[in-house]
Amino acid sequence: MRKDVFTGRWVIMADTAVVRPSDFHFTRFVRETTFCPFCETNEASTPAEVFAIRTRGSSANRPGWSVRVVPNVAPRLRIEGDLGRRAEGFHDVMNGVGAHEIIVETPRHDCSLHELEVHEISNVIRAYVARLVDLEGDKRMRYVLIFKNHGEQAGAHTISHSISQLMGLAVTPRSVKTKLMVARDYFATKERCLYCDVLQQELKERKRVIAENEDFLAFAPFASRFPFEMAVFPKAHNSAFSRISPGQVEGLARILRDTLRKLDHTLGGPPYNLSLQDRPFLRPRAGYWNTIEDDFHWHLEVLPQIVRISGFEWASGFFYNPVPPEVAARCLNP
Ligand SMILES: [Zn+2]
Ligand SMILES: [Zn+2]
Repeated sequence: MRKDVFTGRWVIMADTAVVRPSDFHFTRFVRETTFCPFCETNEASTPAEVFAIRTRGSSANRPGWSVRVVPNVAPRLRIEGDLGRRAEGFHDVMNGVGAHEIIVETPRHDCSLHELEVHEISNVIRAYVARLVDLEGDKRMRYVLIFKNHGEQAGAHTISHSISQLMGLAVTPRSVKTKLMVARDYFATKERCLYCDVLQQELKERKRVIAENEDFLAFAPFASRFPFEMAVFPKAHNSAFSRISPGQVEGLARILRDTLRKLDHTLGGPPYNLSLQDRPFLRPRAGYWNTIEDDFHWHLEVLPQIVRISGFEWASGFFYNPVPPEVAARCLNP
């Protein structure tokens, strides 16, 4: 069993040195070709865009864009109204206030994120940053979750166009909070960033490295929950994704493209979930996150959905991973 240093979660790791990627091979998912509101020229079928990167001379809600952000037509949370935090007897409730947006990564229907050019993926990253910075101005928001479901088993069954989603939340998700608390406690005793320490060790050992460039490292985490799980860390310490430099945007686009292509190539296009693990917005709260700028380090998680979560995982909170990360890294870099 291996303990995840970032969350304290235990993972039962298969004791195997060899894995045939073909045992986990997937049939690439087929995109629906019925009418798609996210394709170029269908801009009128979505709510008005809140952000876009466009060619000079093109106008809003018309063709001529590289990335386009629109509100979700069936949002899980609504942007209007106040939070209305209150008690219902013993229980706490609040209004479902928040943002739910769709980031359309490409005007083309037949392309996945990893099939885009580096400059196109860079535009997707710029769109993430622009939306984060904008939503930080909304005092009701405490956290912005950016994630992506690729493939049917990963939850993309109703939309086959390549998109990311964004949810602006009035509360920090539990899973992020756990990481924040672990990082804060580590910093309190060592006065060092836990993520920087792990990064240095991964670079030294090089047993789990999947890809690397000047600004980023992609590796299979020591206590990976899922086969072929990947983490992407910026090499320079930074708690907030929105402070990424223009040079780093391109580096991130390159490493994301490299790692997702390796996954696609090795396993035949498995479904995956990608998420940005960022710090919350720094709203003044007494006694909270005083050292967050130093103790937390933003990163990306890529979780391939190759094995099903069973009753064991739901009931215990432990995961069983049939592919040790050292083996996964070797499979991805044959
Ligand atoms: Zn489409
Ligand atoms: Zn760090």
